[in-house]
Amino acid sequence: MSENFENLSGSLGLIGCEIIHIDQTTSTMEDAWGLVSTGAPEGAVIIADVQSAGRGRHGRKWVSKQSNDILCSVLLRPRVSLASELLMVAALAVTDVANSYGLKSGIKWPNDIQVSGKKLAGVIAESKTGPDIAPENAIPVVADTIHLDHITVVIGIGLNVNFDPSTETHSAPFATSLASELGANLDRSEVFQKLLIALDAHYSKINAGGTVLPLWRNQLTTLGHRVTVVSGNSVEQNTLVGTALDVDATGRLIVQDDHGKDWYVAAGEVTVRSIQ
Ligand code: ATP
Repeated sequence: MSENFENLSGSLGLIGCEIIHIDQTTSTMEDAWGLVSTGAPEGAVIIADVQSAGRGRHGRKWVSKQSNDILCSVLLRPRVSLASELLMVAALAVTDVANSYGLKSGIKWPNDIQVSGKKLAGVIAESKTGPDIAPENAIPVVADTIHLDHITVVIGIGLNVNFDPSTETHSAPFATSLASELGANLDRSEVFQKLLIALDAHYSKINAGGTVLPLWRNQLTTLGHRVTVVSGNSVEQNTLVGTALDVDATGRLIVQDDHGKDWYVAAGEVTVRSIQ
């Protein structure tokens, strides 16, 4: 079934002020960056029924079957100082949705939302600084004072709604979905509406000078566990084994190695595996 998500926009806040629903695409992340160059408003959301090249982190793929799930990207133009909390906002919004259906979810640092240790959703954030629109007839700006304190960010959310994990055991080996956990299919537009409302609430909070860090920290399932942190590329990899102690004010994971040294690990750089 292909729902009409665009009708939701009238009832929503900043996030979801404009909703673009497309049947199929390569990646909603790419589409959202395309929207940026057309001057789309902050809060614009693009949602697709299916993606041929859904993006995860580090070039990984996000898979989904036709019209089963939520595959969306949200355009934001926050102050630079909010950058470190945007992935938190997205992850928390997904946990809110899961909780609203009575599911106990948690966040595997930094970007996986899990139920019973299985992956329900992944969130990513891509950003760039400076002006994001340059129409042909724009007046050249000598010193860009308007945009310097803001960045353009696209948040991507892949949330498994009616996905059947048994059909993708190779490409999504530890997946689950809302339907799989609840034993019944859900209306995607209801889930999507809840997600946008939750995103808007958390984003409004940080925009107004608040923080979501403590809320996010409370949902992290990684803390207190032994982890292996892998960085680098396929040619050269570095591995750190230790205990995930805490996160710092910017969301970096603090890992203590077996010699008692603390390492501050940023989300963009690594993959973390829990080892117990
Ligand atoms: P990992 O989840 O393996 O620790 P990661 O958090 O960096 O790595 P992401 O970039 O968030 O991974 O997501 C991509 C990975 O998620 C894929 O490599 C695949 O293992 C898994 N995956 C892909 N599609 C789905 C899906 N629909 N549901 C759950 N997991 C998926």
